[in-house]
Amino acid sequence: MIPFFSFEDTNRQIRQELIEAFKKFIDAKNYILGASLSDFEQNYAHFNQVQHCIGVGNGLDALYIALKVLGISAGDEVIVPSNTYIATALAVSHTGAIPVFVEPRNLTYNLNPDLIEPAITSHTKVIIPVHLYGQACEMDAIMHIAGKHKLFVVEDNAQAHGAQYHGKLTGSFGHINATSFYPTKNLGALGDAGAVTTNDSEFARKAATFRNYGSSRRYYNEVQGVNSRLDEWQAAVLNIKLNYLQAWTKERQALANQYIDLLQGVGDIILPHLADRATSVYHLFVIRTGRRDALQQYLQTKNISTLIHYPVPPHLQEAYQELGYQKGAYPIAEDMASTCLSLPLYVGLQENQVAYICDQIKNFF
Ligand SMILES: *Cc1c(COP(=O)(O)O)cnc(C)c1O
Repeated sequence: MIPFFSFEDTNRQIRQELIEAFKKFIDAKNYILGASLSDFEQNYAHFNQVQHCIGVGNGLDALYIALKVLGISAGDEVIVPSNTYIATALAVSHTGAIPVFVEPRNLTYNLNPDLIEPAITSHTKVIIPVHLYGQACEMDAIMHIAGKHKLFVVEDNAQAHGAQYHGKLTGSFGHINATSFYPTKNLGALGDAGAVTTNDSEFARKAATFRNYGSSRRYYNEVQGVNSRLDEWQAAVLNIKLNYLQAWTKERQALANQYIDLLQGVGDIILPHLADRATSVYHLFVIRTGRRDALQQYLQTKNISTLIHYPVPPHLQEAYQELGYQKGAYPIAEDMASTCLSLPLYVGLQENQVAYICDQIKNFF
């Protein structure tokens, strides 16, 4: 059986360090907003080449807090990709603003900069590029459009820790950015966690206040904030894992390149395609085929687990009925939803397993 994902190898590599860290954690004086979190915030800011990192409870909260710091509220519009994970749209809705969907490019699956300007209205305040599946968006073009229309950019960097556009790291372009450390992300905690990154010290101060009940001085509340603090144990785990991230990313990239070599020209498969000057950290390895459902079933009979990211785009979710979209509103996102298939990709997956998966895909076609 080849699972879609496994923690086995990463956990084995750091098991002893985790046990030592847990002993320290138990004996620590602070379980909330303590030394492990401030260490991690410094380490992650250094890794992401930004001035400030603020640890929060999860990726959805990171997006929501970033938008609240920018003052986004009812009446505002926020541009999000039509093919993203629903969290991006939900964070916008939670502020009272409206998510406005823009289609991705056909081959990179990332926001198409050419389609952003036509979606901008007098209510537009923010663009949220999502570095989907681990590939950096075309950030030069996106920042240029944002500058021209005086909009903010909030990167959703949940899937792309360490990816680069034109040599610069994702999560360091936008005015204030969000990421997730959900366990299966490239940098994942052993539970929920997330962070906001920014080079603006005022935004950083506001985010740190907002995540802690809107309070920077105990029992004095400046704004109506939330309780969304990255806890000390998850911060300790992330401090350990961050040291391995570069090596783990290289392993993912090597496995992805092996897939790309072996699946060249097989059936009607469309392979991942990198934009000029973009790198991918391959959070997911996503192929497309018109025979997606049959291929997925066939691979299951060969003991290979696959998943679909994502089967229903946000505008067609029951949760977003209120926006009133019909099928056909965002054809690229809808086509992706019916043709994409994510193959197993994780640290510890073996070359001979990738070869086996590709052989079975060739057999299917
Ligand atoms: C995982 C993810 C999120 C949300 O992160 P959580 O920590 O699960 O709240 C947001 N956006 C994208 C693109 C994601 O993949």
